Amino acid sequence: MNFDLNFATNPDLVAFQDEVHTWLEENAPRDVPRSADPILYTHEEFEWRRDIGRKLGAKGWLYPTFPSEYGGGGLDLDRATIIQLALDEHRIPVPPYYNSGGPLAAASILVWGTEEQKRFFVPPILRGETVTWQLLTEPQGGSDLATVTTRATKDGDDYVINGQKVFVGGAYEFDYAWTIVNTDPLGPRHQNVSWLMVPAKSEGMTRQSLDLFTVHGAGESPVGPKEAVFFDNVRVPAFNLVGGENNGWKVASTHLEYEHGGAGHLRNIWVLDEFFQYCKETKFRGKPISENPDVRDILADVWADYQVDKLLGMRTFWLHHTKRPMSYEGIQSTFYHRMFSLRTSQRIQQALGYFGLVSDPQWTPNEGRTEVFVRYGLGSLHGGGTHDTDRVIMSRRMGLGRNASESAGQMV
Ligand SMILES: Cc1cc2nc3c(=O)[nH]c(=O)nc-3n(C[C@H](O)[C@H](O)[C@H](O)COP(=O)(O)OP(=O)(O)OC[C@H]3O[C@@H](n4cnc5c(N)ncnc54)[C@H](O)[C@@H]3O)c2cc1C
Repeated sequence: MNFDLNFATNPDLVAFQDEVHTWLEENAPRDVPRSADPILYTHEEFEWRRDIGRKLGAKGWLYPTFPSEYGGGGLDLDRATIIQLALDEHRIPVPPYYNSGGPLAAASILVWGTEEQKRFFVPPILRGETVTWQLLTEPQGGSDLATVTTRATKDGDDYVINGQKVFVGGAYEFDYAWTIVNTDPLGPRHQNVSWLMVPAKSEGMTRQSLDLFTVHGAGESPVGPKEAVFFDNVRVPAFNLVGGENNGWKVASTHLEYEHGGAGHLRNIWVLDEFFQYCKETKFRGKPISENPDVRDILADVWADYQVDKLLGMRTFWLHHTKRPMSYEGIQSTFYHRMFSLRTSQRIQQALGYFGLVSDPQWTPNEGRTEVFVRYGLGSLHGGGTHDTDRVIMSRRMGLGRNASESAGQMV
């Protein structure tokens, strides 16, 4: 099967494709050292990724379909696809560094913010000038986001924040924390939360690194260790509250629609491409591993599953960018990807045995990236909710167990 997209019939698109590839060859060298494990990547690599991000942002290629008046590329689906595929070929995720809060905050502010907030917060994000973390999860539970207890109290022209977030952010510098807070502890559920853009350098905000066994998977933007963030009387201007006080659940519906895969993806999983190659090239008892009948079965299963994963992402990418009506498609694609990652992790272990579990480059394929993928299989069940809450959301979108089906969150 070949799902490659072909633009050859349109000379403008071919010229654009050439322009993007030439630019990448000149600006994104392929030989930069990249860590196999996204937990262990270096500040040097972070800096390199920030630099590429700023350059892409200046051209409008970092967030190509976001409106150009707010720093996005203002480009159509075809050009966005060309950019995405070219970056993928260069093994540069979008954005190239961990910036999960950036696109989610930018989209949410564009839908729910005032004109002044859009002009102040969004352009630096879309041009790659700032890094934004998303701060949602709290120690008492993450799936049920409406229960957040981090408290923001209005005090004159400011809000004062107290509380704690966990499993957030990553290594190195950031500029803003896109944060959901409780603004009315006695108010009704879903009518007592709000969103704030909190400057990272705010006094009273502290970070603590967490020792987790995995973060994001190979091929995604490296993260470094996740962190806990503490707010101790952190003062933020009231201007930074987006969407109105106690109106945060509506803002969350936009944020979560994006986080749950509503914008789709055209993602190749490079580590799997490398794994297939490894099985073809590596001999065991005189024959390539891929010629072992049991391994062949496993590889065929992985390949078929991988194509479905890509197609679901591609379908959502097209639906979103052509502004077609959407319901459960984003979350379905996210759910499939989680379960596919778990299945694939198990299948790699079946094919490689203990060699799939070690990170020593002498014994494992792809300098240890396969081992990272195996570890990530389990970790992929969490993050942006879990496989359980994906199922709940899908059921609600389909109207199962309820009188009316829930609609998808509003997107840009
Ligand atoms: C790699 C990684 C990166 C992350 N990055 C961030 C980040 O940048 N920002 C951020 O804010 N958070 C982040 N998180 C946290 C993530 O969003 C939470 O882990 C997730 O929302 C689940 O919350 P929880 O861990 O508190 O589990 P809980 O909500 O306590 O859930 C515990 C268990 O109960 C199950 N469960 C919960 N509700 C239901 C239900 N209704 N029906 C059936 N089962 C249910 C869950 O599936 C889970 O197995 C990250 C997590 C990971 C693993």
